[in-house]
Amino acid sequence: MARPVQFNVKNEGGKIVTMGELPDGHMGEGFFASKLSDIVGLARKNSIWPLPFATSCCGIEFMATMASHYDLARFGSERVGFSPRQCDLLMVMGTIAKKMAPVVKQVYLQMAEPRWVIAVGACASSGGIFDSYSVLQGIDQVVPVDVYVPGCPPRPEAIIDGVMKIQELVGNESLRRRNGDRYKALLESYGIQ
Ligand code: SF4
Repeated sequence: MARPVQFNVKNEGGKIVTMGELPDGHMGEGFFASKLSDIVGLARKNSIWPLPFATSCCGIEFMATMASHYDLARFGSERVGFSPRQCDLLMVMGTIAKKMAPVVKQVYLQMAEPRWVIAVGACASSGGIFDSYSVLQGIDQVVPVDVYVPGCPPRPEAIIDGVMKIQELVGNESLRRRNGDRYKALLESYGIQ
């Protein structure tokens, strides 16, 4: 039996109904005007390219999140990259040993701005159950984190929730934020110029 197909835009009784949300703006026949930052935000939030930095069990949950049942592609994030220079979302999933911390930072530094970071699971967020001399007690000790996903491990739904929170941040971020004093001070607090 054929599966029903949904289109992004459909015509219902002569009225165009869009299924994605439009930013605030003015619409007339044949035109739509909005703020540049809203349009850029809309494009960015629906085309986030993740870099999965998976070191242990939470990475398996991410694999489930990418697979057909949960399907992260629905959020425009199916293009997973392993080159930091082509990605804008660093997803750290798993226990990060202190020896690995400089590598996490190096990967972050190789990403171009604008870049965002999710700490997935208890280990990446806080060291988790490994309160030991060898484990980093949260990746926010070496790079700034935008969203923390709790759980040991978090279910794919929780990871998707984290990605949606990032989408919210990305969609609403001012185009000037990265040049602002506050952002520069944040990077400087991590020793990043
Ligand atoms: S938070 Fe739990 S499931 Fe995730 S990497 Fe740590 S021990 Fe494994």
